[in-house]
This record gives sequence, C-alpha cells and structure tokens, in this order.
Amino acid sequence: MKRVLIKISGEALTSRSGMDYGADSRIFEICQAIKQVVENGVGISIIVGGGNIIRGAECGENAWIKRETADALGMLATAMNSILLRDLLTSAGLEVTVVSSLRLPFDIESNDVYSVRRLISQHRIIIFACGVGLPYFSTDTMAVVAASLSMSDAILKATKTDGIYDKDPNKYDDAVYIPKLTYQEALQRNIRIMDSQAFALAEQRQLPIHIFSMYEPNCFARSICNDIRQSVVFGR
Ligand code: UDP
Repeated sequence: MKRVLIKISGEALTSRSGMDYGADSRIFEICQAIKQVVENGVGISIIVGGGNIIRGAECGENAWIKRETADALGMLATAMNSILLRDLLTSAGLEVTVVSSLRLPFDIESNDVYSVRRLISQHRIIIFACGVGLPYFSTDTMAVVAASLSMSDAILKATKTDGIYDKDPNKYDDAVYIPKLTYQEALQRNIRIMDSQAFALAEQRQLPIHIFSMYEPNCFARSICNDIRQSVVFGR
C-alpha cells in the first residue's frame, strides 16, 4: 500500500482512568504506531472521532440537547481532538496539517480536493477534522470520503475489539470471529463496527476496511502487512 487512511475513535484520547485528555491516554502509543507507518514509507491521512466528548446519535429524540446541536458539538469535538493529535505528532517529528470541512482558526486549512492533493504532494500527514461538516453523519462516513480524496488504498480502523464478530465478544463468550466479509454481508448482518452509510460508500468506492485492536503495539504497520489479528471488509 502507498497510502492509508487511519480512523481513530475519539475514545483513544481518554486516559486509562477515563479522564478526557488525561496524561496516561493511549494516544502516545498510537502516535508511535503512526510514526512507524511513516518510517515504512507509507503516506498517511487520519480521522479522529469525537466520541470521547459527545456522539449526536446517542442523544435520543427527547434528550435535552437537540440532535443538530449535539452533532455540532461532536464536529467541534473532532476539531479539538485533531488539533491535539497534530501537536503530538508534530512533537514526534512528523509534518502534519489539519484540514476541515468547516472554516476554523488555529491554522486549520480547507479540505477541498486541491488543498488535499497539494498537501499529499508535500508529503504531509493530513488530519481531517469536523467530518463532512453536516449533522446526521459520522466520522466513519467521512473516513470513506477522506480516503477517496486522499487517494488512499485502504481504511485502517483501530477499535476496542480485535476484529469483527457475529455478536459482541465482550458480552458473549461464544461470539464467532469473522476474518473476511463483503460490504453487503456487513450491511445484512448489521455489523455495527461502522455505520451503514460508511459501508455503503466504501463498497461504491471499493475501499477495503481493516478492523483491528488499537491496543496492539504497531497496530497500523502490522495491519498493512496482515501481521495482526484483524477483519477485512472488501469485495463485491
Ligand atoms: N458528527 C457530525 N457530522 C459529521 C461527523 C461527526 O455531526 O460529519 C458528529 C456526530 O454527532 C458524531 C460526533 O460528531 O457522533 C463524533 O463523531 P463520531 O461519533 O464519528 O466519533 P467516534 O465515535 O469515532 O469517536
């Protein structure tokens, strides 16, 4: 692979004790794993979610926060996480630019295709903030858009589980691991590791999605070499 899109859940920025932005967050290991991919000569784009702060879809119809407001807060949360991640990766010696679908200060650029292609030609890591810039969407859907914009060969999604199972392995001992499946199978089996819009768009774009544990050392480089337990969604 020449270039990959890495999707990190916002929860990666939560510390082991559950505190937002706590100093013992797993994000430092994740930054090291990202650096390893760069050292292997693979280009990187990144999307970090905002789920450590708020997820719009989890605010039900009758919640005291309106869905559209919750989504706006969620998008801003992804911008906060993106700025922090840029800082950590820059401190690790990498060249990083945050781009966004919404106009924001803090040296954040536009995510239009021309800006993205220029940043790629400058060999910079690109972090996509604010999702698609609209409510009712997730950063998973934007991961597919961003992977296409940045001409990535695959989406690497680091999660809390080490792949896809037929049911939640944290709740059921008899959950069966599924190493490979098509987008249609993921949709039909209602696999919730990504939302259905993201699976449908990934099928249209024929972008493979790798799902693996963010807790494994060097998870991204190992996912690229298929040297880690993971599930891959691909094919027709
Ligand atoms: N969000 C949105 N539009 C987008 C992307 C994100 O409204 O295009 C909001 C939505 O409320 C979402 C939240 O931002 O729940 C945080 O993103 P996500 O849930 O994808 O984060 P993750 O679960 O990956 O941390």
